[in-house]
Order: sequence, then structure tokens, then C-alpha cells
Amino acid sequence: MDIHLVQGDITEQRVDAIVNAANSSLLGGGGVDGAIHRKGGPDILAECRQLRASTYGKGLPTGQAAATTAGRLPARWVIHTVGPVHSATEDRSDLLSSCFRESLRVADELKARSVAFPAVSTGVYHWPMDDAARIAVRTVRETSTSVREVRFVLFDADAYAAFEQAIGASD
Ligand code: ADP
Repeated sequence: MDIHLVQGDITEQRVDAIVNAANSSLLGGGGVDGAIHRKGGPDILAECRQLRASTYGKGLPTGQAAATTAGRLPARWVIHTVGPVHSATEDRSDLLSSCFRESLRVADELKARSVAFPAVSTGVYHWPMDDAARIAVRTVRETSTSVREVRFVLFDADAYAAFEQAIGASD
């Protein structure tokens, strides 16, 4: 698997699937989630409502992932995953790891070969960027998948630097 870093906007990525740092309601939010629904149009939200009605009545649990199509975005699919809120008192890194593992599992079900991830949990969920980057890189490297390209799409230079470091550190 090739791992690439891009500084930019995940909604603009031309890959088979982009991953959304969603919240458990699946009904939209800020950050990546807001950008995906704003640019992708209403079809994505309609499919999210269907997922809630059919499968996730109580919401998508933290660490899990579920797919919709991508509306007007250049990607074909959006894989919605719910990152854990960072805690200073409880180690939730297994849940953050699970977001990447489960997203790749769903990508395999879709037969997606290229997947773009944002820095899940590092926005309003307050996960420290360096630690999130290490967990993200380690997990995608350790996961057995048919995905051939993982692209981490980082919004700013600090996030990019953290992922660059994480890739170098675990080479
Ligand atoms: P979470 O709720 O999981 O913390 P956020 O969407 O608040 O998710 O933030 C996750 C990360 O995504 C943050 O580092 C944020 O700066 C970044 N981000 C926000 N918008 C975009 C975007 N359009 N493309 C890529 N990354 C983004």
C-alpha cells in the first residue's frame, strides 16, 4: 500500500472514497463533516438519514464506519466514521485506531482502491495532532486491506508536519 500526504481540502480529493470525521448522529456537524455535506449536496444527508432509520437507530457508535455515496463530490463514496473525543483520564486510542481499521474494512466492501482520510478526532474532539498522526499511520500500516493508496489530507502545515514525522518514525 502507498501512503501519501496532501495538504488541502478532503472534499476536493479524486479518490474512490473519502472518510468523514462524522459524529454519531450522522446528521451533519462542523469541520470536515460540514464541508462534506455543504459541497456534496443533500443526497449524502438523505442517505445518512436512511442509515439511521435502517441500521443505526441510536447513532453510529464511536470507532465504527458506514458508507454513503458522495453526491456532487469527485469521490465515489463517503465513509463516515466517528472518532472518540480525546480524554486526559482514559486511553481511547483503540477507538481511534478502530476508525481507520473499520473505514478500510468498509472500503474493501466497496472495492475502493484509493481512500483519503482526514486527521480524525483532531478538531472539535481535541485529540493532540502528533499522537493522532502516530495512531493513524500505524493502524493503516498494520491493517490487511485491498486498498492500494491511502492519502492523508491535512488541513494545515502543522498537521502535515505531524503526519510526515509519524511516517518517518515508523518506517
Ligand atoms: P473531529 O470531530 O473528529 O475532531 P473535525 O472535523 O472537527 O473532526 O476535525 C478533524 C480535522 O480535520 C482537524 O484537524 C481539522 O483541522 C481538519 N479539517 C477541517 N476541515 C477539513 C477539510 N475540509 N479537509 C481536510 N481536513 C479538514
